[in-house]
Amino acid sequence: MNYDVAIVGAGPGGIFSAYEFVKKAPNLKVAVFEAGYPLEKRKCPIDGDKIKTCINCNTCAIMNGFGGAGAFSDGKYNITNDFGGTLYEYIGRDKAIDLMNYVDEINMSHGGEGTKMYSTAGSSFKKLCMQNKLTLLDASVRHLGTDINYVVLENIYNELKDKVDFFFHRPVLKLEKTNEGYKLFTKDSEVLCKKCIISVGRSGSKWMEEVCKDLDIKTHSNRVDIGVRVELPAVLFSHLTDELYESKIVYQTEKFEDHVRTFCMNPYGAVVHENTNGIVTVNGHSFEDPTKHTENTNFALLVSKHFSEPFKDSNGYGESIARLSNMLGGGVIVQRFGDLERGRRSNQKRIDEGTVRPTLNATPGDLSLVLPKRILDGIIEMIYALDKIAPGTANEDTLLYGVEVKFYNMEVELDNNLETCHKGLYIIGDGSGVTHSLSHASASGVYVAGKIIDEMK
Ligand SMILES: Cc1cc2nc3c(=O)[nH]c(=O)nc-3n(C[C@H](O)[C@H](O)[C@H](O)COP(=O)(O)OP(=O)(O)OC[C@H]3O[C@@H](n4cnc5c(N)ncnc54)[C@H](O)[C@@H]3O)c2cc1C
Repeated sequence: MNYDVAIVGAGPGGIFSAYEFVKKAPNLKVAVFEAGYPLEKRKCPIDGDKIKTCINCNTCAIMNGFGGAGAFSDGKYNITNDFGGTLYEYIGRDKAIDLMNYVDEINMSHGGEGTKMYSTAGSSFKKLCMQNKLTLLDASVRHLGTDINYVVLENIYNELKDKVDFFFHRPVLKLEKTNEGYKLFTKDSEVLCKKCIISVGRSGSKWMEEVCKDLDIKTHSNRVDIGVRVELPAVLFSHLTDELYESKIVYQTEKFEDHVRTFCMNPYGAVVHENTNGIVTVNGHSFEDPTKHTENTNFALLVSKHFSEPFKDSNGYGESIARLSNMLGGGVIVQRFGDLERGRRSNQKRIDEGTVRPTLNATPGDLSLVLPKRILDGIIEMIYALDKIAPGTANEDTLLYGVEVKFYNMEVELDNNLETCHKGLYIIGDGSGVTHSLSHASASGVYVAGKIIDEMK
């Protein structure tokens, strides 16, 4: 098989690259290799009845397949350079925002029209946050919701499927450099291409590391975010979420001067499991359709850990903490804030008697046995700080699920075209370590496709 361009991974990065080739250079022969399944075949076996928790499938339906890790996400496209990645450092601030807006236009023309764009511009919450030692980060947020996000992906796939060769359930096992380009090895084929775009996301991080080692591509790695997912009655945060949908709020702790931040806020949403390389952590999402709303809002509180020499394995550190919670709770642990403050574990009776009904079936336990003291202290301080702008956050019945870990792929050394030291080999999206979000990953896909089209003209 010979292609002009081979894309590895059909997450937002890979999809938006493919889309750009189809629109701007339909003469190019493009293939996409994806470890997971097509969208309609992505089914997580957890049904809450027979299968209650993660059974570690070979290919995780939540993380792998057309749509990537974002397929069943909340579909929050944050248009900002303030968080979600550092794409702007490579391509410039204006270009990054232009491309995120361009991605938004594509989403709107493929089923997203009518969804709401929220913005922090001119919000009175900035002042309220400042008055309480909190910082509200600037962003515009398009909330597609899990349901509309799925429809958009379905529509984009239908537009691409006859113009791009998709190979599902075909993880690329190995990549070799040839005289004319690259050779990709899958379980049953060898593929030659002139240009190769790797967009393997977080789930492909281990493979990405191997590729970088084999091809002598430099990488840097020193960060992991660790914390909990908070779940409380939606009404306590509705003044914020009605206006902003998602508020990214940062707090500097008094004790250690660490930064704790809110992350991935899901009004009227549900808490879910996430499986990264066999380790079960927690995440959240919500639907655009009001009939699918729950009575709760959830969001993560994360503390960033940056390590310095000689320690290099920041993801290994995060994994070990997550493993500890998996060991104690058989998966995710849930604890009432009141129980955490009293230094006792939560049990099913206390959770059942609480006023917040959990949306995830997790094991009641004690997060203080899992999270390092410095991180836990920071989270507790942040909960009290948030209580000042959203009274009730520090209620006894507020639920904390743990652990939530944001693994960062190591940062691959790339030039301003997101090209490696090997000509024609590009690394985009979360797999590059440059992006950590739907909008940044998608924008990086459009950007690299544009660069390749210019070069191959
Ligand atoms: C539950 C959940 C909710 C989220 N919610 C949001 C949100 O609301 N807003 C937001 O901005 N971000 C959200 N995120 C993060 C967002 O999904 C990612 O930032 C984004 O999907 C990254 O896109 P990507 O294309 O770089 O990688 P991914 O989406 O991870 O896609 C990579 C693809 O590559 C495939 N792959 C991996 N290795 C190989 C290989 N060797 N060969 C072939 N294929 C391979 C994988 O199967 C996967 O499909 C969420 C993530 C999760 C898990």
